[in-house]
Amino acid sequence: MLINKAYKFRLYPTKEQEIFIAKTIGCSRFVFNRFLGQWNDTYQETGKGLTYNACSAELTQLKKEFVWLKEVDSIALQSSLKNLADSYTRFFKKQNKAPRFKSKKNQVQSYTTKETNSNIAIVDNKIKLPKLGLVRLAKSREVEGRILNATVRRNPSGKFFVSIVVKTDVQPLKKTDSSIGIDLGIMDFAFFSDGHKMDNHTFTAKMEKKLKREQRKLSRRALQAKNKGIHLLDAKNYQKQKRKVARLHERVRNQRDDFLHKLSTDIIKNHDVICIEDLNTKGMLRNHKLAKSISDVSWSAFVSKLEYKAKWYGKTIVKISRWFPSSQICSECGHQDGKKSLEIRDWTCSICHKHHDRDINASQNILAEGVRTFDLA
Ligand SMILES: [Zn+2]
Repeated sequence: MLINKAYKFRLYPTKEQEIFIAKTIGCSRFVFNRFLGQWNDTYQETGKGLTYNACSAELTQLKKEFVWLKEVDSIALQSSLKNLADSYTRFFKKQNKAPRFKSKKNQVQSYTTKETNSNIAIVDNKIKLPKLGLVRLAKSREVEGRILNATVRRNPSGKFFVSIVVKTDVQPLKKTDSSIGIDLGIMDFAFFSDGHKMDNHTFTAKMEKKLKREQRKLSRRALQAKNKGIHLLDAKNYQKQKRKVARLHERVRNQRDDFLHKLSTDIIKNHDVICIEDLNTKGMLRNHKLAKSISDVSWSAFVSKLEYKAKWYGKTIVKISRWFPSSQICSECGHQDGKKSLEIRDWTCSICHKHHDRDINASQNILAEGVRTFDLA
């Protein structure tokens, strides 16, 4: 099956290349905002938008007026327009809100450029990018497939990254004749019907504590600057701390992403049918303090990784109805007595006397229910 796959690497541009990246990001934003303004006006007057082709022709004219637009990667400017046109199309289809103006202050600054005539290529440990030439890259794995586009990003921490999207052919994985049920947990990340659990609580709690501490320090620095009458942009200590917090967030994100990639790949490799709860159930159980926790965001990211990898590799994901009482039934005999509130972590069935760990039992019920619904289909 032909799929689009993204690779993300850290970039190490030279000072000169950094300036060029900043310029290209700025020009892409300028083009986006300028045409968004026109698009908004037209929409208000006529109820319709513009077209990509009309804007593209006008961009050519615009370059005569603002000659500095010619300095940067022209494909990046076209992509910016395409991006705007696509956002508006989605807005007209009521798939998302109307596009908004891009700001210099946005957390992540980026531009996208498309592959034509080998203008983007991997050369040893470097990537060739239009107008930039060869940029050093931390290549942690080989890029396989035909490159479609590349997005260059500057994060709030000041680091540069590139996402390369390729078209590549994937082969279905060998069948294993194994099925598994997964219960996503609050204290531990996940419980599996084969009895093991995946714990990321220690990591999460440690990082959360650290983040909170540094966040508080940031607020203190902001207050200090305010008391001294210094603007935050000029407050050195504040800015330094701000970068530190951004780096920390980035590290948490990367580690979490790594963890989820490894775990989902592992599951897809080892099982043919993967049964998992509909996440909305968890949404209702969730308490507000935990809603902010790092593990929280991970659930939906984890399920979406499982879903696309299953599609790539010929495996099946079965989602269990949100009303299925996975933690209430005895997985041994099917008996259900009384409601077991969240505090009850383990219990013994009054009929078959089997002793259950709450979450492992739930994952076993999820597996049984998933296999049942899968067989019906
Ligand atoms: Zn029982």
